[in-house]
Amino acid sequence: MTKKSTIQDKMYSDIQDETIFTSAQTNGYNYLTEIFDRNVFPTEKALTDLTNFDEEMPENSSNAHTVLEHLHTYGSPATVANMGGRYFGFVCGSSVPVGLAGKNLATYWDQSPTMNVLSPIGSKLETVVEKWLKQLFNLPEQTVAGFVSGTSMATFCGLAAARYRLLANQGWNINDQGFSNAPKIRVVTGKQAHSTVLKAISLLGFGKNTIEWVDVDNQGKIIPELIPELDNTTLLILQAGNVNSGSFDDFESICKKANKAGAWVHIDGAFGFWVGAVNQLKHLTKGAEKANSWAVDGHKTLNTPYDSGVVLCEDKEALMSALHMSGSYIITSKERDGTFYTPEMSRRARIVELWAILKYLGKSGVDEMILGMHKRAQQFANELKNENGYTVLNDVVFNQVMVSCKTDDLTDKTLARIQELRECWVGGSIWKNRKIIRISVCSWATTKEDVTRSVNSFKQALREVQKNTLIAK
Ligand SMILES: *Cc1c(COP(=O)(O)O)cnc(C)c1O
Repeated sequence: MTKKSTIQDKMYSDIQDETIFTSAQTNGYNYLTEIFDRNVFPTEKALTDLTNFDEEMPENSSNAHTVLEHLHTYGSPATVANMGGRYFGFVCGSSVPVGLAGKNLATYWDQSPTMNVLSPIGSKLETVVEKWLKQLFNLPEQTVAGFVSGTSMATFCGLAAARYRLLANQGWNINDQGFSNAPKIRVVTGKQAHSTVLKAISLLGFGKNTIEWVDVDNQGKIIPELIPELDNTTLLILQAGNVNSGSFDDFESICKKANKAGAWVHIDGAFGFWVGAVNQLKHLTKGAEKANSWAVDGHKTLNTPYDSGVVLCEDKEALMSALHMSGSYIITSKERDGTFYTPEMSRRARIVELWAILKYLGKSGVDEMILGMHKRAQQFANELKNENGYTVLNDVVFNQVMVSCKTDDLTDKTLARIQELRECWVGGSIWKNRKIIRISVCSWATTKEDVTRSVNSFKQALREVQKNTLIAK
């Protein structure tokens, strides 16, 4: 027998101790079943108990059970319950149960679908899901997909492909020649572009000050007539799902114009692009298939666990060139080598959850789950419309509802009180210079009762704030 080091011995015996794994699994499972009725934001005690993590880097190794118990005892209560049905804050989404379980299995595999030789299963699932997504979203046959961490990265990749193509069209190779003396690329986008779009623009060196901004209407949609003359040096970025109002740009007319001019169109569809897979809502993304690249999240509307975004691009050469990867030790295969479609080399096989959830739901399940989010958002808006003191500010075309109280001050205080009550969680934003409360319905778990219970919390919060302001006067 070869002699093992002490820590290696210890880890081999950890592997033999099934209870290390089963107790973490049981704690996770119990967490999951309790989350639907729990306070949505952690209690004050749970937050205070986080000081139990404040320690110096340990000198010596610990017992695996002790580590996991510590994590569960102080970690689980200090989580935000976005897995449940009453979290309406950022467009987060829950997790479809089969996705969690599938991810759990794949955790033990620890695969990186960088190359086919590193993970044949990862490569296969990426190939299959690429095909499924093209069908669901009705995208051109030649479209390829890269499985990235989220829409921030997907948009970064889409814009990098655009930069490669628009410059190559002018005889300039950005990879070799760099950006300093390159021909100019124009960047056009709406005044309601998401902050991650601006991040990608600056990371790629376009410079935010060069953006040609287009005015938007009262729902946040680009006004097509105000788009400047487009040409084959222009990158135009549109939006499927405004992060406040949920509105969609008019892809049909805008893409037609852009295609004619030879401009590149990228669509940020982080949560909204999924309406394309819903019969009653797909009119909202009509014409989107005429764009060149698209960014969409799994971890929002589709409710995959976090760390799941997809860049889709109809120009395979542009995307692969932009994210080019080489090295004498890279082994390419006739099957899919995922690294050519993502910025990272190594990454987790996040495709497992995406595949499991799509296979589980099927087209009809995707349709029903996402239409359900729309219906609950409409319910939220309708119940609040009938409430004295709340005004609904947007057309609820999908899953977003924006409301405000009579004054900014009242909106702020009411929002703070709703958050304190912990019955649900919503965030604030600013819309047309007014403070608003924004509600995102994006969990498979949200029921009619969850919405009514949350609306009741809205009512209670406003009542209490009004009473306190009266007393203060
Ligand atoms: C959330 C969101 C993003 C960013 O996506 P991440 O997955 O968080 O990186 C971009 N655009 C819109 C409209 C979003 O809602």
